[in-house]
Amino acid sequence: MKYTPVIGLEVHVELNTKSKMFCACANDWFGTNPNSRTCPVCLGLPGALPVPNKKAIEGCIKIGMALGCSIPLLSKFDRKNYFYPDLAKGYQISQYDQPFTQNGSLTLSTGKKITIQRAHMEEDTGKLLHETIEGRKVSLIDFNRSGVPLVEIVTGPDFESAEEVREYLQRLQQIVRYLGVADGDMEKGGMRLEPNISLRKDGQTGLPNYKVEVKNINSISFVEKAIAYEIKRQAEILDRGETPAQETRGWDEDKKMTISQRSKEEAADYRYFPEPDIPPFVWTEKYVENLRSELPELPEAKMARFMKAYGLSDYNAEILTRTTDVANYFEETVKVGHEHGIEATKIANTIVNKKIDIERILPAALIKDLKAAEVTDTLPLDELHTVLKSILDKNLTVVSDYKNGKVNALMFLVGQAMRGLKGKVKADTVKSELEKLLK
Ligand SMILES: [Zn+2]
Repeated sequence: MKYTPVIGLEVHVELNTKSKMFCACANDWFGTNPNSRTCPVCLGLPGALPVPNKKAIEGCIKIGMALGCSIPLLSKFDRKNYFYPDLAKGYQISQYDQPFTQNGSLTLSTGKKITIQRAHMEEDTGKLLHETIEGRKVSLIDFNRSGVPLVEIVTGPDFESAEEVREYLQRLQQIVRYLGVADGDMEKGGMRLEPNISLRKDGQTGLPNYKVEVKNINSISFVEKAIAYEIKRQAEILDRGETPAQETRGWDEDKKMTISQRSKEEAADYRYFPEPDIPPFVWTEKYVENLRSELPELPEAKMARFMKAYGLSDYNAEILTRTTDVANYFEETVKVGHEHGIEATKIANTIVNKKIDIERILPAALIKDLKAAEVTDTLPLDELHTVLKSILDKNLTVVSDYKNGKVNALMFLVGQAMRGLKGKVKADTVKSELEKLLK
């Protein structure tokens, strides 16, 4: 028998706010000493009261806006009750029937629309560590991640292939990074993926009468493998005339298979009720529109602009807008190139075709590569420092990005400096002096 896959996705994105969702603890849980980022609120101690993080809520709303969601003027938090050792309170604060954002869509390159049912706000759980201490197997709990702001983005059951899922996930990751609200770093658990998969028989209308969810996958290629595995496994069960069990499974990368974990819960099992410690939220139209005006140029718009403004092919424009770092690098180079009479399309081709490692190359070095004039250092060091310091003062966000480990941010500063210096100093010198000032 022939089947069509019916796939939906839930994606959890950790926001990169300074503090956690409901307390003032630092949000930088990854790689920190266990239980060093905790307080009575995120430890779930009796009597501790949650205070919602405004930045996090705005981050959630911006993700929803970028996905074309509507922003209801009334929303609230709810308690999702379940027991697990890493959930100190015995419930998770989440959103049930009145999420911050709902009813959006994301259009794939084929023109197919994936519906976004909602992007809502919740809190992350702690982490269990399974260790052996003095020969005994023990489970330890680290609550540093407990209460980290998490946005859950839920699609309709609209995907029919792993390829569609891959494109959606790449685009979603790109969007949260463009917005600057999340790192989307899957290796650090910053973006966790949960496909639900079932098969529709040819000729069948409506959704299949079962659904298999694969939990907590931390890589796009594992999602693709899990989907391929499930399509094969479920087809075999259906071919025997049986129905696959409604359940939650996990992806085992060593065994290259999904493994049954538990039967799937229904919403009623969680006994949701409105969170009594946090009053509902009532936004004004003006507040929502102000937030909307803070949205940066998003990937799709930037790509269209690059094609129109610089005459780029869609192929080049797509590659050059994958990250804002690359896009900024290209645009900075175009500005410098313009002063040397070098066309934007030529610069785009050079970056794309030569597969230039843009993490390492500098705009001025590229211009040199394009046979622009050689520059020699003709500016005294103290004067150079004055120029560089003023550039750092004007670009505080970029500076803090750099200090937070975004190495590419340096390129942007070098580009700014090279423009200001008009060829009086070599890019290598600018780079090394900037590095000294940023230490
Ligand atoms: Zn805390």
